[in-house]
Amino acid sequence: RANIAIDAARAESLSVRYYQNGEEENYLARLKIIEELKLVLQNPGNSLFLVYQPKLNLSTGEIDKVEALIRWQDSSGNFVSPELFVSLAEQSGLIISLTQWVIKEALSQIQKWKTLDIQLKVAINVSAQDLSHPQFIDFLLSSLSAYEVDSNQITIELTERDIMQNEDLIVHRLQQLKKMGTYISVDDYGIGQSSLAKLKQLPIDELKIDKSFILELNTSHQDKQIVSSTINLGHKLGLNVVAEGVENKESLDLLKKYGCNHAQGYHLSRPVKANELVTWLESQ
Ligand code: C2E
Ligand code: MG
Ligand code: MG
Ligand code: MG
Repeated sequence: RANIAIDAARAESLSVRYYQNGEEENYLARLKIIEELKLVLQNPGNSLFLVYQPKLNLSTGEIDKVEALIRWQDSSGNFVSPELFVSLAEQSGLIISLTQWVIKEALSQIQKWKTLDIQLKVAINVSAQDLSHPQFIDFLLSSLSAYEVDSNQITIELTERDIMQNEDLIVHRLQQLKKMGTYISVDDYGIGQSSLAKLKQLPIDELKIDKSFILELNTSHQDKQIVSSTINLGHKLGLNVVAEGVENKESLDLLKKYGCNHAQGYHLSRPVKANELVTWLESQ
């Protein structure tokens, strides 16, 4: 069972950090979120759910992949920012049980889609802590078998930053995943500190260019240079390249022109619930 206790040392380091910033209230608010999340993970009910955002294949014009993104609606009905609670889950160790919940939920959805004859590769976001956990691979394998999902139907998304943490173990885990036939994607690429030398050693399949380079692609000369050369680089390394944060048609057209493989963003679709995704796919 995952250790979901907030250990004292961590709480202390958090408090030092936030008190130094003079943000006592902020610190207490964060602790409260951690406590609530801990309870929610024990009994997720309907307060946790996944939404799915399509990745458009730019060469076929089809949706062949989606990314699963977690949502949390708290007891007062408010949505908590995933960026915030995922990072608090990482700081408190709750990430292990959070990711286990996400994996099971996504696999159960793949199983349901199969009965509707819907074949989509589903990307699941994991953190360095998840991959470092000694039971990660076993958990994934037993879940895949419980939901009768093939390992090549899922993609593991890990940020470039997280890859650089605890490097040797992470690389080992990525190799294990690769051996299983699971697709591996480097998320938020371009804002981490990875070197090309490192990247080329990793058993990865896909680069997702960080949305900070894509949001203003249509107007920024610099972003155009960065994005087009990253796409070329990815292709030279034999990788599938995805652009996230595509918010307008001009950017989408540029990405097609640059030969980008997949596009994801509000211009195509926001992340939506599974049933809305099916309706949306049927309408396309
Ligand atoms: P990410 O994995 O890089 O996900 C992309 C984020 O960009 C999502 O935010 C998505 O809703 C948002 N996005 C998509 N298209 C656009 C667009 O056109 N414009 C803009 N401005 N944003 C767009 P979200 O869902 O709030 O998630 C934020 C981050 O939280 C994710 O970044 C990921 O790092 C983390 N996260 C979300 N769900 C999970 C999860 O299930 N597990 C873990 N470990 N992390 C998750
Ligand atoms: Mg992602
Ligand atoms: Mg990203
Ligand atoms: Mg991100």
